[in-house]
Amino acid sequence: MGRTPRGVLAVAFLTVAGASVPATQGMDASDLRSFGPGGLSSGPPRLTLAFVDYAVLPTEAFHALQAETVALVAAMGVDVDARTLQPGSDLDVRAITLIVMDGEAPSRRMRGVMGAVQRQGALPALWIYSANVAAGARLGWKTRDRWSASDRDAFTRAMARVALHEVVHLLCPWRAHDREGLMASVMDRSTLTSSRVPFTTELRRDFGLGVDALRGAAYPMAQAGPSRR
Ligand SMILES: [Zn+2]
Repeated sequence: MGRTPRGVLAVAFLTVAGASVPATQGMDASDLRSFGPGGLSSGPPRLTLAFVDYAVLPTEAFHALQAETVALVAAMGVDVDARTLQPGSDLDVRAITLIVMDGEAPSRRMRGVMGAVQRQGALPALWIYSANVAAGARLGWKTRDRWSASDRDAFTRAMARVALHEVVHLLCPWRAHDREGLMASVMDRSTLTSSRVPFTTELRRDFGLGVDALRGAAYPMAQAGPSRR
């Protein structure tokens, strides 16, 4: 899931405003705390996630995905703001953008891939391929209208875990895959949907360092040293 896809941007349909985004637009004090270079606060690390839904999930399902992802990130010890961006709108340059795609990954080379990140981009963005995540949870994407409440819960859980896996790739580029758990290169059904959240204390620590690094906190990262794998 960690491979960097070529051509994925072609299906994202998002425009990047970059420097043309007015600095004050929609920005409040918490935003400044989040990403101001060197603007370290004493509270827990803070992250902004912007969700874009190309899968046209039912509103309830999209909100459930956001809530589950926020809860997972919070369990990693990081406060998070979740926002929704409409498809086709400008990216939020201060956020990690999560793009929820309908169907499968766009190329044969990415068959079975549940999530992907754009590592080289100036803006941190990741893609989640709903049909492949559903398949990983052993659910049929094409029959999703007939899913039970527990099927829908399993899908939400799986989507949020794939999202968090990709967020870790973005925030902790030094970190390789683990043999099992949230950062396994192949997440099986149990890892995707079991009630036990599949991450370790060491991953939690790396995640906090990654968020700090995003905020420009090189010093605590250097103090902590490289992580054991
Ligand atoms: Zn991966």
